[in-house]
Formats: sequence, C-alpha cells, structure tokens
Amino acid sequence: MITIKNLTKQYGNIKALDNIHLSFEKGEIVFLVGPNGAGKSTLMKLMTGFIRPTQGEVLINGKNIQSDRSGLSYLGYVPENSPLYPEMTVYEYLKFIAGLWKQKKEEFIDNLGFVLENLQLREVLNQKIETLSKGFKRRVGVAGALIHRPEILILDEPTEGLDPNQKYHIHQFIKEYGQEHLIIVSTHIMEEVEAVAKRVVLIHKGHLLWNGSPQDLQQVSSEGSLDKAFRLLTGGKQ
Ligand code: ATP
Repeated sequence: MITIKNLTKQYGNIKALDNIHLSFEKGEIVFLVGPNGAGKSTLMKLMTGFIRPTQGEVLINGKNIQSDRSGLSYLGYVPENSPLYPEMTVYEYLKFIAGLWKQKKEEFIDNLGFVLENLQLREVLNQKIETLSKGFKRRVGVAGALIHRPEILILDEPTEGLDPNQKYHIHQFIKEYGQEHLIIVSTHIMEEVEAVAKRVVLIHKGHLLWNGSPQDLQQVSSEGSLDKAFRLLTGGKQ
C-alpha cells in the first residue's frame, strides 16, 4: 500500500529524515513514535504529498505521490492542528468536504452515515464546530478525512490534549477501522502504543531506530516497559 524508498528530507541545514526505507500494508495499525523533532510529522507530510522529498520517493499503491496525484484519493490525513471551519455545523462541514471529492448526494448520505456511526458524531450533527468540545472537534477532523472512505488513514497526534474518555473513543475507532484498512498514527504516548498498535516505527533524529511489534520493542527493556525501551533507544535515561 505505502512504499517508502530511500527517503531524505532536508530543511536548509537540518536533515529531518535520513534515508528511510519502509513499507506498510492493509490491516496494519502502525504507531510512529519518537522524541520531539524526530521527524514524525515530516514523514507524514511526505507520505501525504504535502511536501517534496529532498531525495527518494513515496509510492501509494504503486503510484509516486509527487508525480501522480491520483494516489491522494487513497489517503485521508488529519494533521496535528487540523483546520476546521468553526462557523459551519458538523453537517455543513462534512458536506463541504464531500463536495471537494465531488460525491453525489446518495454517495454522501451513505458516507455520512458511516462516519457518524464510526465516530459517534450523530448527536452533534447540527451543532456549530466552534461550540464543540476538543474531543468532538478532533473527531470531526477525522470524519472529514474519512468521508471519502480512504484505504489509508494518517493521523498526526490524534489524542493530544484529550481526556481519557475521548482518547478511548479514538482508540476504539482506530482498532475498528484498522482491521480492514491501513492506519498510521503518530504519538508521544507509549500507553497508547501498548493499547492499540500492531506495529511500531521509532524515529530518532531522522533515523529509523525500530520497526516491529510493540511486544518485541518492550523486550528491549529488562523490565518489559515500552517507556523504558523508548528512553533506552533514544538516549534518555533508564
Ligand atoms: P514533534 O513530536 O515535536 O511534533 P516531529 O517528530 O514531528 O516532532 P518534525 O516536525 O518532523 O518532528 O521535525 C523534524 C525536524 O525538522 C526538527 O528539527 C524540526 O525543527 C525541523 N523542521 C520541521 N519542519 C521544518 C520547516 N518547515 N523548516 C525548517 N525546519 C523544519
């Protein structure tokens, strides 16, 4: 589904990513972890074609994302501070996004039902986005990325600042959608990795340090702790 070859991104003197090779398949829930400034958001922006690589390429279902933008139709992407239109109701917002995808009325209604159900948004459908709690706003962002039912969903820190109940809703959704699709999530929260991830990709200073199951990553620490494994590999103290 996604193949990343020899990917390097340089911002001036800063090498945000250095020669990364990875591939992801349908049915995977991949958590992208790493300290602040590791290169996680840069990798997500490259995978979604938001920025151009300095070197290397990203293939989505075999299509180079830079030279063939049709690959974008497979993707849903929710950036860290996903832009929403506060004056719109949830319904208006989702209709607007569906319009960008040129969805016909019946198709939109079908997709709307799907996202409302999956993200439990029905109760706020006619509420203005600016009046929603943080958790609902985040779910509306995900709903917008999901309205065209993408095969691949990329979420940059989707639970940042949410309370445990709201986190739980997002986790449940990721587990459910991740059964039949590819989901890539970035986070700093190792408990989240333990609870939801099927695979962990750890990046540090633009380098790939770990690519495997959370269970194997735990074994890096003598105490079987993901937090400690993370600190050991990234040079933090035990
Ligand atoms: P965080 O967890 O703090 O969000 P991250 O792992 O997502 O960090 P990136 O945002 O990808 O890390 O940043 C990787 C490196 O590239 C950092 O050193 C950052 O300062 C730098 N960087 C990111 N975007 C730019 C930019 N547009 N211009 C210059 N440097 C940038």
